[in-house]
Amino acid sequence: MKTSPYIWFNGKLVPWADANVHVMTHALHYGSSVFEGVRCYSTPDGPALFRIGDHIERLFESAKIYRMQLPYTQDELIAACRTSITENNLSSAYLRPIAFRGNTGFGVAPPADGPIDVLVIAAEFGAYLGEEGLKNGIDACITSWNRAAPNTFPTGAKAGGNYLSSQLIAMEARRLGFGEGLALSVDGQLSEGAGENLFVIRKGRIYTPPAAASILVGITRDTIFQLAKMLGFEVVEQVLPREMLYVADEVFLTGTAAEITPVRSVDGITVGKGSRGPITEALQDAFFGLFDGRTADEWGWLDQVNAK
Ligand code: PMP
Repeated sequence: MKTSPYIWFNGKLVPWADANVHVMTHALHYGSSVFEGVRCYSTPDGPALFRIGDHIERLFESAKIYRMQLPYTQDELIAACRTSITENNLSSAYLRPIAFRGNTGFGVAPPADGPIDVLVIAAEFGAYLGEEGLKNGIDACITSWNRAAPNTFPTGAKAGGNYLSSQLIAMEARRLGFGEGLALSVDGQLSEGAGENLFVIRKGRIYTPPAAASILVGITRDTIFQLAKMLGFEVVEQVLPREMLYVADEVFLTGTAAEITPVRSVDGITVGKGSRGPITEALQDAFFGLFDGRTADEWGWLDQVNAK
């Protein structure tokens, strides 16, 4: 990957190569990190962070669920994200704000006042599931791994440990030659992708699994709700059976990294016409239009980095 000159590390900018942690870091042993993925887009007015307030708010919610007291305010971390763009001279980037339990010894239960380290990493990053995938769709499969059952660990928190599940899903899919893996919830209903929320379109209606289907409630998912409404489509949050994918007219995945990626087949069954469908394309147009000025940002989602 392309690196940047600096990483924001506990309030200071340190050279990329020096942003290291001790091997006794609790998060390394036990997955106790909470993090975000945020995109900064190049716009006619300069680089703009997309929905940064919502991402940092979710970071604090993930920390709250895990009883982690972050040593910074939300505003301070938003400022750290802006600094990470300006000081690295980036015009567009993927940002990774991450907070984690530091060196607290071997105990699984961390001391309540144990150290919490906070970093913001920003670097150039392209289309997560490929430019070609954005245009023509990817081939996905349902993997043999279910998402975590409710009351095991919360999928609504974006925590490092959750991504063991995502890794199993993504690795199995890639090993079998698919572009991405989808997973069912523990009761066998549609849940989400390894790092994306799932949308299914049938007869002009857009469906997506609800929060209770062991998903991370995505910010791009919410963006779709708003853009779909603007375009005159209804989005229905409901429990969806697996076979909905096989008889769908269109399927797409959403995420900060994946943006809006069409799915052209699931488990080798062609979705619709086997290419990006018209509603998916209209949503992509509206979404990417936010960054070149074709879609008015009536929601205040763009945070112009240079305006501050
Ligand atoms: N589900 C999972 C498991 C994810 O990792 C992501 C990416 N953060 C999403 C859904 C989509 O979330 P968002 O749109 O907020 O990036």
